[in-house]
Amino acid sequence: MKVCPKCGQATPLWSRDLRSGLCGPCVRAGAAQREREEREARETIVVEGKPLSCPICGHERFSKMRVSSWDLAVRLPSMTACSCKRCRYVMWFQRDEEG
Ligand SMILES: [Zn+2]
Ligand SMILES: [Zn+2]
Repeated sequence: MKVCPKCGQATPLWSRDLRSGLCGPCVRAGAAQREREEREARETIVVEGKPLSCPICGHERFSKMRVSSWDLAVRLPSMTACSCKRCRYVMWFQRDEEG
């Protein structure tokens, strides 16, 4: 029986990831971790090389919404609204943020 290189638990062949050799729970934990990191990267807004933080509560996670002039029914360039995940304060950028 092989041992999982991450947690050191003996892992039967049928519950082992063939590529990494990790046991099932470690594979799932790794995927969840990656997902969390990807989500955090998406929710962090970088402006002029600095991570944006909320002027109200200082939180650094936002949800982004692209708003086109069509949505607003006015003649504006497309905007990006970043809404603070903690206090819901909304900041506007008069351009399309990537991502
Ligand atoms: Zn493991
Ligand atoms: Zn806030």
